Amino acid sequence: MPRRKRREPYPTPETRCSTCREELKPYWRYCPKCSRQQRWGDTHHFTGAECYRCGWIVSDRFSCCPWCGADIYEEGHSSEEPLRAPKGFRLDARCDWGCGGRVQYPMSHCPWCGKPQSWNEDARFEGDCPRCGRGVDDWMNACPWCGHDATGRDLIPRALTRVRRLLLVSRIRDWDYRVLLRPGISGVDPRHAKIVEIEQRYVVGKRRRDEIPWTLLVGLLCHELGHSFLYHHWAWTRTPRFRRTFGEVDKVYRGMDDTWVYFQRRRVAINPVDHVSAYAAKHPQEDFAETFRFYVTRRGRLRELFAEFGRKRKGVILYEKFLVLHDFVRALRGWT
Ligand SMILES: [Zn+2]
Ligand SMILES: [Zn+2]
Ligand SMILES: [Zn+2]
Ligand SMILES: [Zn+2]
Repeated sequence: MPRRKRREPYPTPETRCSTCREELKPYWRYCPKCSRQQRWGDTHHFTGAECYRCGWIVSDRFSCCPWCGADIYEEGHSSEEPLRAPKGFRLDARCDWGCGGRVQYPMSHCPWCGKPQSWNEDARFEGDCPRCGRGVDDWMNACPWCGHDATGRDLIPRALTRVRRLLLVSRIRDWDYRVLLRPGISGVDPRHAKIVEIEQRYVVGKRRRDEIPWTLLVGLLCHELGHSFLYHHWAWTRTPRFRRTFGEVDKVYRGMDDTWVYFQRRRVAINPVDHVSAYAAKHPQEDFAETFRFYVTRRGRLRELFAEFGRKRKGVILYEKFLVLHDFVRALRGWT
């Protein structure tokens, strides 16, 4: 039976961002709150060595800086064979390239062979950075790895500005929603009502055919914001008036991918008679999200919308859906 000597782990360097005092995890390159670039030097004298190029802590037994990849081989100091636990480091994962050496999370290079390393960060973070693909959490403004906007909102500024203005003129009070570009499908998790995820492929896709025009992105955002708004005000769905109008919103259903194709229509559909769009007829939650989208993209101008309903012979219940939302929006602003 192999004997495993328990090593007292080296105290991991602990630090706060010098600008905003946010607590940082070891070896984050940027502060996720204020995006300040970090340098992890040997401030606690763990190893007595720093990389000549990036100034980060290294071991003098390394041949390569695990942080910037610089060649730091020094005869007489650097180890000819990879070491399991050079002073100051706990090397717990194998080098991706099978050089026989070990690496420590989140080293970007193997300290022995110098080759770039990749890490599976699914269990460590809530999502992936839309720029560099490494792990980020929903609250992060900046990616701790590449320093870019971790939300990806900087990639769709025009659509977001338009949506913000539309909400403002529709007089819908901000409920602190947060838009994030993420891989997967667009949608809102009811357990995280304020987080609106937009499939990043539509915006940063390598496959150009996936890109969608920004006006359509506005429609998609307004629709998803409708889901977020409803989850955020879920108690409202329990009121008799809401139920009479939209029905049972918690009826089981599964979201669908590629829904955005439905959101390009700005005109009210003639069919189905009791819904604002064909997509709205799929589920009461979609019905609400579509009602919300039309309400917002038409700037809350019911008179205009209702005139269009009249021309298209829409059902009475559709008017009521918009009135229910309109009254609720007004109530939130403190009017009655
Ligand atoms: Zn900071
Ligand atoms: Zn370096
Ligand atoms: Zn290696
Ligand atoms: Zn990044």
